[in-house]
Amino acid sequence: MVLHQELVQSNEVSSSNAMELEGLKRGLQFFAGQNLQVNSLVTDRHRSISKYMREDQSEIDHRYDVWHIAKGTCKKIDKLAKKKTCAAAGAWAKSVSNHLYWVAASTPDGDGDVMLAKWLSVANHIQDVHQHDSDLFPRCVHGELNVPGRKKKWLQPSTEVCEKMVQVITAKCLQKDVMQLSSAYQTSNVESFHSVVIHFAPKNTHYSYHGMISRLQLAALHFNENSSRSQATTNEGKERFAMRFPKFKKGQATVSKVLTDATYGYVEKLTSTLLQLCKAGRSTIEDLEEASAPPPLASSYVHPDKEEAVQQHKSRYN
Ligand SMILES: [Zn+2]
Repeated sequence: MVLHQELVQSNEVSSSNAMELEGLKRGLQFFAGQNLQVNSLVTDRHRSISKYMREDQSEIDHRYDVWHIAKGTCKKIDKLAKKKTCAAAGAWAKSVSNHLYWVAASTPDGDGDVMLAKWLSVANHIQDVHQHDSDLFPRCVHGELNVPGRKKKWLQPSTEVCEKMVQVITAKCLQKDVMQLSSAYQTSNVESFHSVVIHFAPKNTHYSYHGMISRLQLAALHFNENSSRSQATTNEGKERFAMRFPKFKKGQATVSKVLTDATYGYVEKLTSTLLQLCKAGRSTIEDLEEASAPPPLASSYVHPDKEEAVQQHKSRYN
């Protein structure tokens, strides 16, 4: 059964990767069709996307979202800290991840070499070394840290935990990713759009092609109208905040601003347009039916003979 689950999972992963890449290709094609030139693109670190951007879209400046890289690095440090002899690494996970955010935010021109030099300095910093062998970033910019009451312990050079931490920080693929960090833009906005899409078109329900298009358009209208809401205040005029405990933070709280209530002005515009169309004698449903839907995606797949597929399935598990 484990084998079966792994197969299913790896199929899901590869199909979601293929969908991401297909979505990107169609998106870029759409922009090209509108004569819009794409100068830079910020994504997470899907390898298939990186490869495609490197090989087929090299004129676009491809950048990575900081949150995704920081999360991956934190995970590696947490995993290392589970080893008894390397438990001291755990105390550094948050600071090292914060450092990555700082690397991107403090380099607004996105200079890859400067970002890399800043990033690598943290391998010294964790050992209480703040002068670096780099012209681009010769010393840390923080003040004196060895003050009375300091709780976090520096890692001792040549110990197992220190060497493993340095390995995580200086891993070749991470170095490449750091050089491509996005300093100005992150993908969090797109991700909040995705949660609006899920609200309008829950994944557990199947919608027809036109149903899905309409729901995506509604989600876009709602998102655009509400994307720059201001922070809500109490009756006394105090700014409102909420505390959440997201699963990925394992018990650590996240504080976020409470925004003013959403508005639905687009609904009014839609209904008045609909009324006008009806008065003019046009049936929108007929319009929709006229716009032909493409054939379902599954129809493009090769359908093997069922009998044969069942035989193969049986022989695999016996
Ligand atoms: Zn330092």
